[in-house]
Amino acid sequence: MSRASEKLKTAESFAGKVDGPLWRHPTDRRIVLPYRFAAAVALMQSGMEDFSVIAAAVGLKVVQVRQIDTAQTPAVRLLALKGIPAGQFFRLQTHVRCPSCRSLIFTAPCVACSSAQAEALLEQNAAD
Ligand SMILES: [Zn+2]
Repeated sequence: MSRASEKLKTAESFAGKVDGPLWRHPTDRRIVLPYRFAAAVALMQSGMEDFSVIAAAVGLKVVQVRQIDTAQTPAVRLLALKGIPAGQFFRLQTHVRCPSCRSLIFTAPCVACSSAQAEALLEQNAAD
């Protein structure tokens, strides 16, 4: 089976068709999945729990977001384990409120919270 049909199978095993480009993890070649799935994972890892808000923000159905939450495909499971790579931001289709800082965001994860985290890490490293 070709690589392309394997990827297609991953998308098709989810409820309904998934439009849009694929996203590749920059360092883990096993992680290739629809951009919208990766964006949904990024929102979940930001602490967003409302599946209908996530679905609208990334352009998926609620049932698909639920499937991502239960990590039903290996690529989603791997991404959930590894986390979204630092510096990676996914463009959202609707503005949502960041669960941490409550500001309106149009990327996942929240840019403000991510840079605050990065600064805290830098300070921690400098103190060591
Ligand atoms: Zn935030």
